[in-house]
Amino acid sequence: MFGFPGHASPDGRKSEGAPAPEGNLEAFPPGFLFGAASSCVQIEGAAAEDGKGESIWDRFCRQPGAIRDGSNPSVACDSYHRWPEDLALLKAMGLQSYRMSIAWPRILPAGKGAVNRKGLDHYNKIIDALCEIGVKPLITCFHWDLPQALQDAGGWPNRDTAAHFADYAALLAKTYGDRVEYWCLLNELQAFTVAGYGWGVHAPGIKDRGLMLRATHTANLAQAAGFHALKVQRSSLKVGIAHDLYPVHPASPSDADREACRRFDAFRNCWFLDPAFTGEYPQAFVAGNPYEAMGFRPGDEALLRAPLDYTGINYYAGLGIVAAGGEGGLLQRLDAHEVRARAIKFYPAGMKEVLVDLAQRYKRPIIITETGCNEPEALSPGKPVHDGARIRYLDAVLRSVREAITAGADVHGMHVWSLIDDWEWQSGFQARIGLAQVDFNNPVGRTLKDSGAWYGRVARSRTLPAAHTV
Ligand code: BGC
Repeated sequence: MFGFPGHASPDGRKSEGAPAPEGNLEAFPPGFLFGAASSCVQIEGAAAEDGKGESIWDRFCRQPGAIRDGSNPSVACDSYHRWPEDLALLKAMGLQSYRMSIAWPRILPAGKGAVNRKGLDHYNKIIDALCEIGVKPLITCFHWDLPQALQDAGGWPNRDTAAHFADYAALLAKTYGDRVEYWCLLNELQAFTVAGYGWGVHAPGIKDRGLMLRATHTANLAQAAGFHALKVQRSSLKVGIAHDLYPVHPASPSDADREACRRFDAFRNCWFLDPAFTGEYPQAFVAGNPYEAMGFRPGDEALLRAPLDYTGINYYAGLGIVAAGGEGGLLQRLDAHEVRARAIKFYPAGMKEVLVDLAQRYKRPIIITETGCNEPEALSPGKPVHDGARIRYLDAVLRSVREAITAGADVHGMHVWSLIDDWEWQSGFQARIGLAQVDFNNPVGRTLKDSGAWYGRVARSRTLPAAHTV
């Protein structure tokens, strides 16, 4: 069960269900986009160049202990200057889509008001170059790098941030909407609200339950306001979102564990999707949802609604096993849940579970906006990188996607995280997760790994190799 147990379907619409090639479970439907993804903070560097404003991650990484290896993203992969090398990888692999994010503080250094022309021009060049090589850009408007000036004004707990986000998103659509069809409003709302204001492990590093609750509500308001702002600019744009979703199973068939699992699922998986489609929050808290603490106002039901064109999912193959009672080892450290959850890693079958349930619940097309595999790897500049574990991961996940399509999920594409090794937030440079290797001490050149070559063959042939060959 992943799922949306006990939830009514938000509307009567049926998923269109992309026709899958009959009888060949290794082949993908025509039009399925094989892509890769990245985000600006993690690869760009140039943190203070060409008029870019400070982001909350620029500030957060200076807090002692915030980043495990004490690093910061001020250079990262130097993609601000070396983006042609990144695009050359996409071309070499024959990928059809590139999900990239735009740095809000590069466009609006203070988060609102004066526009930084150099910032706008930077992404214009990349988008033009992607179009030239026939790769569809999928633009993420916000991948966690809130302008510090907006944090100084209260950040996501401040309701005004939703309106500032919508204005910024409208500017992006006005500037790039003639060339960019696919848009992702916000990346992983959990990660920048719950992890940022509740657990304090992400920027801005705050641990405050009340601020966390308000941040979740503002983020949901921003999701809807941003959706409508983009559609006003250009109704033909395909506008969606990216959520990290987990399959969750109750630890036992007991009523207590099933109810704990339902509440966990409501907060972990549905808290940022139900409001868009129904205008309501799923019931997640034991004593009822804390609307007052969230800053919910009369009329917000309408402001939360956004009929997203697609739902985007970031899937990292964990399975949540949820039991009632107490705390400790929580996947979701939220006191009101009174649940225990432990994660089982490497569960590629969960991709199918998540996709099928998402399709049934929201009846929208789906784009896999991220999936990937973080492996300890030695740095070997210029030498082949034999990352067989990543190949096995991608193969298993793609088979799971293919099964979900056969089961009726209307999946339009998948983006491997990440195109290149990158700066992994609180893990710094310790994790390597790319299809191509980067030397962070001297980020000149990129080395395609075995997984990149393998994924390129799959993308070009649109077919997985026979199972026994992987
Ligand atoms: C985030 C990425 C991150 C990836 C792997 C996702 O949750 O969206 O920015 O790099 O996980 O850690």
